[in-house]
Amino acid sequence: MHSQSSSIGEFDLIQRFFKTQSDLMLANHPSSVKLGIGDDCALLKTTSAEEIAITSDMLVCGRHFFADANPEWLGWKALAVNLSDLAAMGAKPEGFTLALALPESNPAWLEAFSKGLFSIANQYACPLIGGDTTAGPLNICITAFGSIPKDKAIYRSGALDGDDIWVSGFVGDARLALAALRHEIQLPGEDLASVEVRMHQPIPRINLGIALRDLANSALDISDGLLGDLKHILKQSNKDAEIYLDRLPKSATLRKQSPVIQNLYAASGGDDYELCFTAPIGKRDAIAKISADLDIPLTQIGSIKSMQHSGSAIHIIDSNGKELNAQAADLLLKSFDHFA
Ligand code: ADP
Ligand code: MG
Repeated sequence: MHSQSSSIGEFDLIQRFFKTQSDLMLANHPSSVKLGIGDDCALLKTTSAEEIAITSDMLVCGRHFFADANPEWLGWKALAVNLSDLAAMGAKPEGFTLALALPESNPAWLEAFSKGLFSIANQYACPLIGGDTTAGPLNICITAFGSIPKDKAIYRSGALDGDDIWVSGFVGDARLALAALRHEIQLPGEDLASVEVRMHQPIPRINLGIALRDLANSALDISDGLLGDLKHILKQSNKDAEIYLDRLPKSATLRKQSPVIQNLYAASGGDDYELCFTAPIGKRDAIAKISADLDIPLTQIGSIKSMQHSGSAIHIIDSNGKELNAQAADLLLKSFDHFA
């Protein structure tokens, strides 16, 4: 057993026990791996004009969902979160594998799970091509594969000085649903239904990712909270950012909450699965056109700045044009870490 004090955060853990050795192997062994650990997907080179994007995400009972969760929603979400990573790189889904641990083989549960899974698989033309099934505590792990034209993938590391920072859709709804389900906040029935669907059935922004291939300098999908995830772009691009708090896009339902809750959930609530991306100012018209063509709100929430001190900073500007103090900003910057 490790004591609490000796445990390390999720990203330090990956760095220390997996990424360092993986990077060393990749440096020493010529292979088809173009991009390893650290982005939304890994990339494999092929001899054709396409590259292959690969990503894995796991949903664990008691951690990501409750044991009595609706199995149809689980089937949807397990694939949706993987497709969202493909979207973040600009990849087109090609297929996925499913590794499933089940406490019991309950046909009614499996029927509903399969219905949700294949409903999203069909919608995104992404077939199930293999997997593994075992008895054990309920655990759903999907690995998804996508294709992308050579050198067109959008990395986290590509943000440039002066880039606009954009976010798709609305952020904070899934966090609002969680608060309501935990009885921290009371919501009328129709409001709860509207945010619950955002939590259980996120929409992977595949067409948006594909449309951004020639426009965005960097991108990621928001799984752990907008500003915390933006930090990954900043760290990997060696940049700072300025964010206008008022501009964070919020649904009509979230806008019924107090300003404090609105800002907190929009800035740091997890499970949104929207895309956050950066693009040069000169691309604003093209981005507005994509927004209209795809019927997805795209909101410019700030801009990329050159890095002032080592360690990327996010300067959050309030409605009076003043920067939030460190303590207020810290609250909004906290993203989800499984081991923090
Ligand atoms: P995302 O939120 O986009 O799914 P994560 O934050 O989970 O990405 O992971 C960050 C990076 O670390 C990704 O490149 C992921 O593939 C990699 N990673 C996470 N866990 C492991 C692991 N156990 N072994 C190797 N790589 C991992
Ligand atoms: Mg991701």
